[in-house]
Amino acid sequence: MEWIEQELALLRERELYREIKPLYSAAQPHVQTADGEKLLFCSNNYLGLTTEEKVVNACQEAVRQYGTGTGGSRLLYGANALQGQLEQALAELKKQENALLFGTGYMANIGIISTMVGKEDLIISDELNHASIIDGCRLSKAKVVIYKHNDYKHLEQLLKENYKLYRRILVVTDGVFSMDGDLAPLPEIVKSCQRYGAMLMVDDAHGTGVLGPDGSGTVAEYSLSPEEVLLHMGTLSKALAAEGGFVATRNIVKEYLINKCRSFIFSTALPPAVVGAALQAVKLIKVEAWRRNRLRYLAIEVRAQIRKLGYDVPDGITPIIPIIIGSSAKTMQLARELFKRGIIAPGVRPPTVPDGSSRLRVTLMATHSDSDIEMLLQALYESGKQIGVI
Ligand code: PMP
Repeated sequence: MEWIEQELALLRERELYREIKPLYSAAQPHVQTADGEKLLFCSNNYLGLTTEEKVVNACQEAVRQYGTGTGGSRLLYGANALQGQLEQALAELKKQENALLFGTGYMANIGIISTMVGKEDLIISDELNHASIIDGCRLSKAKVVIYKHNDYKHLEQLLKENYKLYRRILVVTDGVFSMDGDLAPLPEIVKSCQRYGAMLMVDDAHGTGVLGPDGSGTVAEYSLSPEEVLLHMGTLSKALAAEGGFVATRNIVKEYLINKCRSFIFSTALPPAVVGAALQAVKLIKVEAWRRNRLRYLAIEVRAQIRKLGYDVPDGITPIIPIIIGSSAKTMQLARELFKRGIIAPGVRPPTVPDGSSRLRVTLMATHSDSDIEMLLQALYESGKQIGVI
């Protein structure tokens, strides 16, 4: 085990060592930790729905009716009516013919990508796409080319150069980028894909429930017609307050995935508890627009306030706020100082983000109060001054 010890020591030296720190309460603004009560600014529970009474009740009812586990894959009688209802609700949300559930968003990405393309095909992928997309690309055995982040002209050029050379082309992008909180330029990407006959997949893990007038996500945020994207991938684990991945798409694509997609076929169906919770969460995002509106207000306001303190923060409308520091050591120091002041906002380092772009990643929830935000700003001010990053 010496080699493992050496590798771990190296990670510690480089401030790249990771460890699991449990919470002793639900992931809401005020959390209990081993070091006492803290304010949580790193949860993807964007709308605060994980503790909402209606969601908890729906979860309990689902367990009572269907039990705690499904006991099989969807194709081997792990399927139940609740999953079908959730797929229908997700298809309606995304304005697609149908939807298909997966065990996690990660499994959705690796499964969908490796099923839609193979070794005779090409994938064109944004350089900052989520790790699960990268792994899906690798698994597919397709040729992969990367375009510069959000550079749709680069994408267009790659499509132009390659479209005659491959059987099929899949263009894949996050809708909202998970470490930067910015949006993919979908109108331009859609046009390029149409021009060169490429399939388009959008991973809207962070946009679903958060963006668009109805909460349906980044495609709606741009007022694009939902048919212009073939594969609307999402996760139930963020705004939808549960766990699991999905793709909303055409009937025929769902049929194909059911028959071919290994991460769907060879894995147990989602348990009733999470399906019941997510189904109720999808219903609530429609009727409780205040959550989405509050989140957007905070996203814009908090960005402006943090910038006023002297930090480098890009513009944006999403609850993911990157505070770019640069050095991993300073970033981790800042995160530690904040923690001492009662704030949990983690540092994000390579390999999660490119070298030299280490950052503090603050994420907001609709349930953060004004005084929670004031505490964050005060702690950012004091900590930043203390370690000399502002
Ligand atoms: N895509 C993106 C953009 C993500 O941020 C994440 C989760 N961090 C995933 C996919 C994976 O989703 P899940 O957590 O449901 O596996």
